[in-house]
Amino acid sequence: MAYRPNDYECGYDESRFKNAVDENFRCAICLNVMKDARMCHNQHSFCRKCIEEHLRVNAQRCPQCQDNLTVAALLPSRVINNLISKFKVSCDYAIRGCKECINVEDLERHVENCGFAPVLCSNERCDKEINKRDKIKHETELCKYRKIPSHDFAEIKEMFQQSSKDQVKMSIDKLNVKMEQVKAEIDKKLVDVCGLSTKIHKEMMESKGEIRNIQQ
Ligand SMILES: [Zn+2]
Ligand SMILES: [Zn+2]
Ligand SMILES: [Zn+2]
Ligand SMILES: [Zn+2]
Repeated sequence: MAYRPNDYECGYDESRFKNAVDENFRCAICLNVMKDARMCHNQHSFCRKCIEEHLRVNAQRCPQCQDNLTVAALLPSRVINNLISKFKVSCDYAIRGCKECINVEDLERHVENCGFAPVLCSNERCDKEINKRDKIKHETELCKYRKIPSHDFAEIKEMFQQSSKDQVKMSIDKLNVKMEQVKAEIDKKLVDVCGLSTKIHKEMMESKGEIRNIQQ
């Protein structure tokens, strides 16, 4: 019985492919769709990990043609790899909720950045595994070990908003007082001006009377 590496190192499970995959793309060792295929000189292809492990653990022969074979003699199965690279496959984290369907060639990059990748909560004592995209929300709002509970955040926010409101109100009050003062001053000056003009008017009338008297 040939050595079977664990699932993690094996090819892609056929159930992950959007369309049915031809038999020729299966690895004869893990029976999955080939991942990074390598072949013997008779063009028998296998996943790179599968065939390297077989040559290391079982025998230095091709599992299909039984010809002598070493890791150094393996050749990349370019045609097979190119064809598989365009197949649509589900994300490694589909089981965690990712709905993406990606070309095999883009899978690695997607998986690295996938928001459904598992990460651990960084709060002390919490060992919960969460989706990468939920990390911040969990750590700051949902986690029962979060450093500052969310209602405190709300209170601080409210206090801050209140204090800035108070400051604005204080400034407006001060401005109102100042305006009242300015208004009062203007009124006083106006009264003065009026008083002055009345006085001038009165003096003018008196002068006119005097002139008339003189004329008479
Ligand atoms: Zn394989
Ligand atoms: Zn062979
Ligand atoms: Zn994903
Ligand atoms: Zn947590």
